[in-house]
Amino acid sequence: MSAPNKTYDPVEVSALSDEAVASARDAAVAAIAAAPDLDALKAVRVEHAGDRSPLALANREIGALPPAAKAEAGKRVGQARAAVKRALEEREVVLAAERDERVLVEEAVDVTLPVDRRPRGARHPLTTLMERIEDVFLAMGYEIAEGPEVETEWHNFDALNIAPDHPARSMQDTFFVGSPDSGVVLRTHTSPVQVRSMLQRPLPIYVICPGRVYRTDELDATHTPVFHQVEGLVVDEGITMGDLKGTLDHFASAMFGAGIVTRLRPSYFPFTEPSAEVDLQCFVCRGASVGDPHRPCRTCSSEGWIEWGGCGMVNPRVLAACGIDTQRYTGFAFGMGIERTLMFRHGVTDMRDMVEGDARFTLAFGTEV
Ligand SMILES: [Zn+2]
Repeated sequence: MSAPNKTYDPVEVSALSDEAVASARDAAVAAIAAAPDLDALKAVRVEHAGDRSPLALANREIGALPPAAKAEAGKRVGQARAAVKRALEEREVVLAAERDERVLVEEAVDVTLPVDRRPRGARHPLTTLMERIEDVFLAMGYEIAEGPEVETEWHNFDALNIAPDHPARSMQDTFFVGSPDSGVVLRTHTSPVQVRSMLQRPLPIYVICPGRVYRTDELDATHTPVFHQVEGLVVDEGITMGDLKGTLDHFASAMFGAGIVTRLRPSYFPFTEPSAEVDLQCFVCRGASVGDPHRPCRTCSSEGWIEWGGCGMVNPRVLAACGIDTQRYTGFAFGMGIERTLMFRHGVTDMRDMVEGDARFTLAFGTEV
């Protein structure tokens, strides 16, 4: 830039001549009109309206003009720059609208397509049934007792009056942890939790012990080497078989509906005396299939009753082994398989369905979480 010069004629300065300004403006407007998208327009803006653009450079020349010439040159360049600015703005509006329209088409989401979403996980029906059983007994004032699954032979057998030569203690039936004389087993029932409860809890005792147990069975339609039991134990003054029967009736109603009939059938267990099997009246035929060859019942094999579990009055020898005064206290105990209860409740015919983890089985119970 040079100092103001009174004889300076803007028409003589090539960058500020009418033609030069008009040509720069027209080149800019043409480039703007030709810009195919916003990115291209950005480049055009730098080239034709940026600090180094012909019109910006021409604008700088105005400062060197004599005052008389400044107004005219300023007007000319200003109008050209305004025209370019306006063309940029208008083109930007058009290109932005085009882009928005294209995005709507290209990035459209078809909300009618099937969703690629994994179903929410849910708890196993055995777990939810176990909790339902817990609720039944918690409502009656019972406590939930738990114990280890790796158990000593003493808790699992001896304390329960199961003699050392009892067949249940052989390796045919029981998983030993380590060698058979290690004295450590995977518990074969939840009864050791009863023993632990009697050893640890203050009297009276009202507990249920739900949990996982182990036996060396092959997996088939009616057996699984890992299954679940729930046992109940009451030790108090004046407890009788009547208390046991009433408790079982209530439990059965809660599981299978009001009015379900139970029956105690004499049996033998080392840890209870007297002992009984708990039978349920068949809830499919209600006993009507008995002696009627025209109406066979598969659920009860037309016997009218199905076996649910075992029970009895706690053997005084078991109470004594746990240091309880057998003159003052009596108790009852019962135990049911939770798999078996689920099979009865829901008509499950194959135990393998419960352990194979096929979601189609579990989903039939709903996704309770
Ligand atoms: Zn039946």
